[in-house]
Amino acid sequence: MPSRQESRTLSRVPGQQPQVVIVGGGFGGLNAARALAHAPLQITLVDRRNHHVFQPLLYQVATAALSPAQIAAPIRKILRHQKNVEVVLAEATGVDLARRVLIVDALPYREIRYDYLILAAGATHSYFGRDDWATNAPGLKSIEDALEIRRRFLLAYEAAEREPDPQRRRALLTFVVVGAGPTGVELAGAISEISRTVIRRDFRRIDTSETRVILVEALDRVLPGGFPPEISARALRDLTELGVEVLLGSRVTSIDPKGVNVGDRRIDSHNVFWAAGVRASPLGAMLGAPVDAAGRVIVEPDLSIPGHPDVFVIGDLARVIDPATKCQVPGMCPGAIQMGRFVGGLIVADLARRGTPYPQFHYTDKGLLATIGRARAVAYVGGLKLVGWTAWVFWALLHVFFLIGFRNRLAVMLDWAWDYLFFDRGARLITGGRPAEKPE
Ligand SMILES: Cc1cc2nc3c(=O)[nH]c(=O)nc-3n(C[C@H](O)[C@H](O)[C@H](O)COP(=O)(O)OP(=O)(O)OC[C@H]3O[C@@H](n4cnc5c(N)ncnc54)[C@H](O)[C@@H]3O)c2cc1C
Repeated sequence: MPSRQESRTLSRVPGQQPQVVIVGGGFGGLNAARALAHAPLQITLVDRRNHHVFQPLLYQVATAALSPAQIAAPIRKILRHQKNVEVVLAEATGVDLARRVLIVDALPYREIRYDYLILAAGATHSYFGRDDWATNAPGLKSIEDALEIRRRFLLAYEAAEREPDPQRRRALLTFVVVGAGPTGVELAGAISEISRTVIRRDFRRIDTSETRVILVEALDRVLPGGFPPEISARALRDLTELGVEVLLGSRVTSIDPKGVNVGDRRIDSHNVFWAAGVRASPLGAMLGAPVDAAGRVIVEPDLSIPGHPDVFVIGDLARVIDPATKCQVPGMCPGAIQMGRFVGGLIVADLARRGTPYPQFHYTDKGLLATIGRARAVAYVGGLKLVGWTAWVFWALLHVFFLIGFRNRLAVMLDWAWDYLFFDRGARLITGGRPAEKPE
């Protein structure tokens, strides 16, 4: 195996600037690209979508509070002032480490040569080996997912409005959310709240207070990952006050088009949403480097992969242990942002002082937040526990701050203010058609 010094000089094409290839225009990839803005190199950013998504607000698109364009932005637009970046809309399908090329599915590229490769392809849902559940229980990871959940959510009320049979109507108005992490809590809280406020005014026949929202969690508390137990208890109280039925210590054993089985219990429901598991992009496993049970690449302390100092894996795709705390860096925006900036800075330093050892990545914990409904949220920041209205305002300000683009920030703030004052949800559009109905 070539040494770090040799391996870096081998692939250079004489007279050409060093080539940095980044896969993924999410938080990790974008921040890596930006950190390289003034470096004498050429960057190619590959993403299979043309837009960056602010995933923390996806549930607001799924529950008709915001429109997709308010939480997403075209990657080309984000990077248009950065002259050393070229954006390629393509799916990365593999990496040839020996030849130092990224393999993509778009002509005429097919192969993109790199001197440094940064993989920031993120994660997707995990159904814990039951991928057949995906059709009946969509997860929330992309704009398409959010629109599908919104479609099912709004169609359920339309179908219930026409349904004369009370039992079938009840199943239509029963929403089951699997997984009580932040996404599950936010989704369940929002569905329950909207059904009792906004939706109630729009329908003539159904009584929307019949809506049942059931949140199912296999562990013994809501928000189990990282939040202190008191915060979980407060979130449980808020959810219950909003009318959400929370089933703790309960495992989903099957999902079909008409409902779910939770242990021995059957819940008739036409609307099941999945917020339970995460699996890293399959691109990580293609590197041949060790991966953990969720498919995350186990990286070196400098975020490179073993034996390949020119290949970095960051964000949700990487399994990183912080050297100070010995804890795993959580799959959240701050981790991806910090890793992107770190690797960008590392490459700049490496170009300037070739051969010096790489530094270690250190994670700065920015805290945990989850919103439960109107003026209800929980936050755990720097050991400080915030709940209720204060946490909700903090949550709102922080999310607006991290949104990309002034226009999006302004639009989101205006929409939130409007919804808050008038109990409205402006994006109640059913897109993607409705399923063909057969008489039973
Ligand atoms: C619903 C939801 C809510 C969340 N809420 C919060 C929150 O409140 N706070 C928080 O801190 N974190 C939250 N997160 C987590 C946070 O969004 C992620 O940790 C963060 O986005 C990870 O950034 P990333 O760059 O690693 O991956 P991503 O942001 O997922 O970006 C990956 C990019 O890679 C692209 N890509 C993937 N595979 C390929 C391929 N083969 N070829 C080309 N392109 C590819 C994708 O299109 C995408 O643009 C949430 C996540 C979700 C899904």
